[in-house]
This record gives sequence, structure tokens and C-alpha cells, in this order.
Amino acid sequence: MFDFDDTVTEKGQYEPPLRLRNALVELSQKMPLGFCTGRQWESFERHGLAELLKGIDSERKKTFLENLFLFAENGAIGYEFDAEARKFGEFYRVEWPKELVDREYLQKTLSEAIKDYGQVYDNAHRVVVVMRTNLHDVVDRKVEDVYDLSEKIYEVCLKILRKISADFEEFVHVGNSGIGVIIGPKDGDKDEAIRRFGEYLGKKRNIKFDDGFRNILVAGDSPQPGGNDYYFLSGKYGTPFNVSDGDVYNGFLKPVLGAKGERLVHSKGSLYLVKKLLK
Ligand SMILES: [Mg+2]
Repeated sequence: MFDFDDTVTEKGQYEPPLRLRNALVELSQKMPLGFCTGRQWESFERHGLAELLKGIDSERKKTFLENLFLFAENGAIGYEFDAEARKFGEFYRVEWPKELVDREYLQKTLSEAIKDYGQVYDNAHRVVVVMRTNLHDVVDRKVEDVYDLSEKIYEVCLKILRKISADFEEFVHVGNSGIGVIIGPKDGDKDEAIRRFGEYLGKKRNIKFDDGFRNILVAGDSPQPGGNDYYFLSGKYGTPFNVSDGDVYNGFLKPVLGAKGERLVHSKGSLYLVKKLLK
């Protein structure tokens, strides 16, 4: 199970490099493969799936799609491929916590509050509230500047949410992916996606798991507190790997190390993990 941005892509890139794409297609021929991303389904289809499917023959494509699962909106919605209907369908959805705040009201408020740094996505996501930086469409941007803006947006979000309720953390999680910020239901974060994935595979594919679903490998790049993989890589479920160059924050999370003990980060870390699984 992989995060998408800066995990299967290089930092600041939109699409996975060719070597990793090929390796992921290879892996999908052997086992179920999940992507867990802040993106909504359409964006994953455009930037992820379309690239992964480029040049793959129809037999492999069939197996790939059978084994492909998408956990979009930071884990709030799970999709599986329905071979008969030939399209993806939701197999679970966690609703926005209306009792905290009306989602549209929050979007409007944030839109005004973050305007120096970024924008709220309009009508793209179904459950979560997502913001991107003002540098999103700027071609010659510096990645570091994007990360700085994203951090500023994150701070503003916390301030606004605190004003709405001192107990906002009982209802939502706020995650900073480095390229944007996502606010989603607390019970629909990426840790829940791992559990739902394992539960689904147990029921429908007869795969045996322990309570922690430890034989699901999980990789992401934002495990720091406030990062959008904080819950994904917390070690509550799965066996987590950190493909960022940052420190390891809990007893479960491991870095990915190359032959000389060097840190392998972003798509290189993911490529290493996929190749290990293929051996
Ligand atoms: Mg990421």
C-alpha cells in the first residue's frame, strides 16, 4: 500500500518514473496493490492510473485492475475495480463530520483565510476539504517554496479549526502533504484505509491477517506529526516504511536503506521495496 505524491513520484513531480511504473505493474501480477492518497479519484486516474497503464498488454492490464485498490481523499473513500461493470466502485465511504462544522461553510472560511498562500479545491473531493498552494500551476516553481506555503496553510487551518471548536481533533484530522493540506474525518484517515483494505482482502480474497494486518507493507513520505501520512505510518496497522529523508518518529516505522546503508527516499525508496517484494 503506497502513498502517491512524493512516495511513488519524485519530490515535486506529478507522475511516477518509468522504472517504478514497470515494477508496480509487475507487482500487481502477484498481489493486491493499494494507493492511499489525498487526491480524489479523478486526479489519481489522470496522473497515476493513466501513466501506470501506458503500454501494458491486455492480459496484464486485466490482472492489474483486478488487484488495484484506491484509497482516495486520504483514506475516506475506498475503491475497487469491478471487472463486469468495467469501472471502479466505492466499497466504503466515511462521511464528513457535520456536527463539527458545515463543510461548505468551512471551505468558504478557509478560502478567504489562506488566499495569500493557496486555494481551496472546489467541488473536486467528495468528503474531505483540500487546499493547494498558489504555486500549484507554476511551472518553474521551487519545491521548497511549495513546502513553505503548504506549512503556512496548515497553520491557518489549525487556527480556524480551533476557533470553531477547541475539541476539533475529536472530529477531524488535518494533514500536510507538503504540496497541500487536507482536512478529513478523524475516523476516515489513512490508518482506517489499511484496516479496510485488510478486511476486504480477508473476506473477498481469503487472505489471512493478524489483528494489526502486519503483512500489508505500507509506504509514505509524510510521517511527521501534522503530515498526511502520520496515521498511515503510525504502526497501528500494517508494516510501515518511511521514504522521506526525515527522522523516524515511532517504534514501528523503518527507513528504507540501500546496500551501503544510505537512505533511499521518494520513488527510489518505493522502487527498492517493490523489488524486494518481487524477489
Ligand atoms: Mg506524500
